[in-house]
Amino acid sequence: MTHNTEWEAVIGLEVHCQLRTNTKIFSGASTTYGAAPNTQADAVTLGLPGVLPVLNGTALQMAIKFGLSVDAEVAERCVFARKHYFYPDLPKGYQISQYELPIVGNGHLDIELGDGSVKRIGITRAHMEEDAGKSMHEGFVGTSGIDLNRAGTPLIEIVSEPDIRTAAEAVAYLKKLHQLVVYLGICDGNMQEGSFRCDANVSVRRRGTEKFGTRTETKNVNSFRYVEKAIEYEIERQIEVIEAGGTIVQETRLFDPGTGETRSMRTKEDANDYRYFPDPDLLPVVVTQDDIARVRATMPELPEAKRNRFMEQFGLPKYDATVLTGEQALADYYEVVVKASGADPKTCSNWVTTDLLGALNKLGKDIESSPVSAEQLAGLIARIVDSTISGKIAKDVFEAMLAGEGDADAIIQAKGLVQITDESAIVKVIDEVMAANPKQLADYRGGKDKLFGFFVGQVMRVSGGKANPDAVNRLLKDKLAG
Ligand code: ADP
Ligand code: MG
Repeated sequence: MTHNTEWEAVIGLEVHCQLRTNTKIFSGASTTYGAAPNTQADAVTLGLPGVLPVLNGTALQMAIKFGLSVDAEVAERCVFARKHYFYPDLPKGYQISQYELPIVGNGHLDIELGDGSVKRIGITRAHMEEDAGKSMHEGFVGTSGIDLNRAGTPLIEIVSEPDIRTAAEAVAYLKKLHQLVVYLGICDGNMQEGSFRCDANVSVRRRGTEKFGTRTETKNVNSFRYVEKAIEYEIERQIEVIEAGGTIVQETRLFDPGTGETRSMRTKEDANDYRYFPDPDLLPVVVTQDDIARVRATMPELPEAKRNRFMEQFGLPKYDATVLTGEQALADYYEVVVKASGADPKTCSNWVTTDLLGALNKLGKDIESSPVSAEQLAGLIARIVDSTISGKIAKDVFEAMLAGEGDADAIIQAKGLVQITDESAIVKVIDEVMAANPKQLADYRGGKDKLFGFFVGQVMRVSGGKANPDAVNRLLKDKLAG
């Protein structure tokens, strides 16, 4: 960025996170994604006269869980408010949200920057609200379709302080938040399906000045890469406008992934345009300390704590621990492998992070659908530990396991891969190889040390790769020395 030294960006993110409940926030309609349009729009979703919303208790617990995970204050009393605006996919003419009294207050999230340093990003609040429906334009001529299946899906909107200074920090914050809500089990994290969406508020100011510039808000950016691009574009655009003598208007903008640009959508509403007031259909929500304690008891070990434990308990390097704790399911998988194989934790980590993740990546599968279970991988590693097979043969066995040929033991038996550790058998092979290569033997004994590798290779080949490599090395040295 050319203006980097003179200008500084100020960024605050609003993240809409769909809660993973079976039913909607104020009714029993299903929240399952992908159903035929309007098959999940009951009377409450449609906002028909006479219906009353009833708060989904699971959604409330999930919001509390989030609050606890970011060390935030959980409000003992929070209030739902009506936020009024007109949009075809909002049948009631208002969205039920929270305004002055949200469920989650001040908290924070620590992000790690590229240089390894840690930065704390403030979380201003997180409030519960209902998602809107969707307008559909594809396949309609001269008219639009409305699908209300999504309307009423529970959301928490997580609002950050304007503590973020670069697009890279914004992405680090979003990734951390995404990992957190998935770990907590409160969000499926599916960004393509809109389960986790971000609005980016961006302004710029001259470095050294305190006062914030006027911000724009780029709506509904639904991938980490797009967020990065949208923010970078917006920073550059604002600097150019100001340097050319113009001013930034507070407005809502849209990111176009095709061009990598943002464009104006509408001037920004002020809060009073929404005519917020407490929803008379919903009682204030009272959360007791007992309620909070009950939710706290269901908190899983969070990613950072898990990573630190992996480094301590298993003696793993930070890199390994970070990869392994990136997902709860992967971390669980690894712990089973260590326990069931009885092998050195670092060896297990190598198998999981390199061989297994590499294979899954190629297959386009995630850890939950791994064709090799943790117990099966442990079974394979155990056969290396007890010297039944060499590490090299183990790679072939692993391939066979991936192909669904069964457990390690079955494959080792069926393919006759048991390692030759019987020294007399290995010596026999060595004798054979020496007899077949008299010239190399003479050269080696004449000082060409490099030929040692040739002999190792020959012995391994003749033994079908099954000779124990340590024994081969040791015995060969003796025999070649004559
Ligand atoms: P609104 O409800 O109108 O969107 P908020 O005050 O709730 O406004 O702020 C929304 C987001 O904008 C927050 O994440 C906040 O950190 C961020 N924000 C506020 N002022 C600025 C600014 N000048 N530049 C960048 N971000 C800002
Ligand atoms: Mg907002």
